Amino acid sequence: MSNSPVALITGSTSGIGLAVAQGFAKAGYAVMLNGLGTPAQIDEARALVAAHGVAVDYHPADLSQPEEIEAMVRATAARFGQIDVLVNNAGIQHTARVEAFPVDKWNAVIAINLTAAFHAQRLVLPSMQARGQGRLINIASVHGLVASVEKSAYVAAKHGILGLTKVTALENAESGITCNAICPGWVLTPLVQKQIDARAERDGLSNAEAERALLAEKQPSLRFTRPDDIAAAALFLCSPAADNITGTTITLDGGWTAR
Ligand code: NAD
Repeated sequence: MSNSPVALITGSTSGIGLAVAQGFAKAGYAVMLNGLGTPAQIDEARALVAAHGVAVDYHPADLSQPEEIEAMVRATAARFGQIDVLVNNAGIQHTARVEAFPVDKWNAVIAINLTAAFHAQRLVLPSMQARGQGRLINIASVHGLVASVEKSAYVAAKHGILGLTKVTALENAESGITCNAICPGWVLTPLVQKQIDARAERDGLSNAEAERALLAEKQPSLRFTRPDDIAAAALFLCSPAADNITGTTITLDGGWTAR
């Protein structure tokens, strides 16, 4: 058990989720990590979070499996006593045109990027409602607001999670619980590095040239959003100043969706 507020952050062994976990730990939250990775990666994530002097644990739930999500939520409540903040962050990408999109990839993207957030929310909500407080944060994407070619499953899932965010916000509007989404543009993480690698190979570019081309196509600021900036936005949504912000999005996209 712990007296600190508690954050359950999915997909926090890498990228944005790991930065969010570190941000919450720095702010004094006990953290339940989750995500895939080698034992060394998981140990490293645990050590980075524990370095802030807070309690940290890790749950290996595969978020494509609803019963594993249930086990993760149960384990978090058992370990820390309560869940104050749920950050649905885990996500995967697959690119192909609709007519060529592998059905198993479609199902996996929808399961991990959308359905897992529904399950995690439905499982944490009753105890948040009983306590009259809670923060639900969904890491969506600019692709929840606009589309790009070859990302049908990802764009559908991210538009879907914005819908889920609004409904959950409305259903809990008087309960002391808020539900919001964060919509990043390009953030340099392993998920995006794969797309840079594919572009470099396809167009015969160096890594730096492929990065510039990727940014120039979509993100007018021509620079990546930092993972720490996503953590700061999530922490803001948990601050007293944000207690009447619900059902909306914070977009950190360097102007992507402004044009
Ligand atoms: P990442 O690949 O670095 O991290 C993804 C995390 O999800 C990892 O911890 C991974 O282990 C976990 N994960 C994947 N499949 C899982 C599963 N089945 N069960 C449990 N965990 C699983 O990617 P990222 O860029 O940090 O992405 C994090 C979130 O941010 C995603 O939802 C992504 O869509 C979103 N996002 C990223 C960007 C970007 O530019 N990087 C932009 C907009 C939105």
